[in-house]
Amino acid sequence: MKSFRKELWFNVPTRRAFINITPQVEECLRESGVKEGLVLVNAMHITASVFINDDESGLHHDYDFWLEKLAPHEPVSQYRHNVGEDNADAHMKRQIMGREVVVAVTSGQLDFGTWERIFYGEFDGRREKRVLVKIIGE
Ligand code: ZN
Repeated sequence: MKSFRKELWFNVPTRRAFINITPQVEECLRESGVKEGLVLVNAMHITASVFINDDESGLHHDYDFWLEKLAPHEPVSQYRHNVGEDNADAHMKRQIMGREVVVAVTSGQLDFGTWERIFYGEFDGRREKRVLVKIIGE
């Protein structure tokens, strides 16, 4: 069995953003040489997510609006976590949007549904953060 591991690094200039990382994951898959197996992609931070959905800007705006309604950033004093920091909302947004995705690899390709793409969801940016890509198979 082959095994491949790589970290993708991000330094998002804004507090929140959604980034399509499908091309980077496909590049990892090519590097791995795996034709049949599984890809795991997970955020290595508790204020960021990896999720699968549509690459459609209106939807991403809607996500941001929805998440801000669920867990508004301001006022930061509303959260007990925010003693010496201000990212309680980011922890909650990450919890809703998830930590990781697993995608099947078939014939050397990510075996997606038609509109599925992999996204990095940043909720407390402006610093270096990592995503782990782990690929196993033959
Ligand atoms: Zn925190």
